[in-house]
Amino acid sequence: MNTSRPLIQIDTPQWTTHIGRLFEKMDGAYQEASHASGLTCAHCEDNCCLSLFYHHTLLELFYLQEGLKTLSPETHARVTFRAQEAAPRLHKRAAGELDEKIPCPLMDEGRCILYHHRPMVCRLHGVAHILKRPDGNVINGPGCTRYEEMAKNTPPLNRTPFYKEMAYMEQTLRQETGFTDRLKLTIAEMILL
Ligand code: SF4
Repeated sequence: MNTSRPLIQIDTPQWTTHIGRLFEKMDGAYQEASHASGLTCAHCEDNCCLSLFYHHTLLELFYLQEGLKTLSPETHARVTFRAQEAAPRLHKRAAGELDEKIPCPLMDEGRCILYHHRPMVCRLHGVAHILKRPDGNVINGPGCTRYEEMAKNTPPLNRTPFYKEMAYMEQTLRQETGFTDRLKLTIAEMILL
């Protein structure tokens, strides 16, 4: 087991359960939407695990770190090494200095080794969505290339209830822990914290 010091002090079992339940609901909604559209990720060359994504919540960071603790020392060392390699290259990619796909350090032979602990965007990317913002404006987000090609007349996934619940949980977790930093982290950076 990894014995690294926790970033913050959290009532781990309680929060692990809360976050796990929210993510299960997201997974269920995603499965329904992808099933309705016929979308599968099999053999997709536009793999979202090769994409540059940032993650912004403390609860996603905490949940991923809980997953990292379950890895064997060998796997943890391998993942850390890959994260050290990936993090600076992702910075370059974000700055437009590098134009190549960089695999997520948690991807092993095409599969996520912390699938149960992956962040929100890993769960929802792919199908088209709508999001009603607090100011009442509705954002329409497109699906991935394959989804747009095949999903005709399929209703978009409504992310609004999940974002609301996540925002409430994030606020509560931050109040509980006194953590106030703004977060904008790649998976590689989350691993290296
Ligand atoms: S955390 Fe898992 S699902 Fe998310 S990008 Fe990395 S390998 Fe893919």
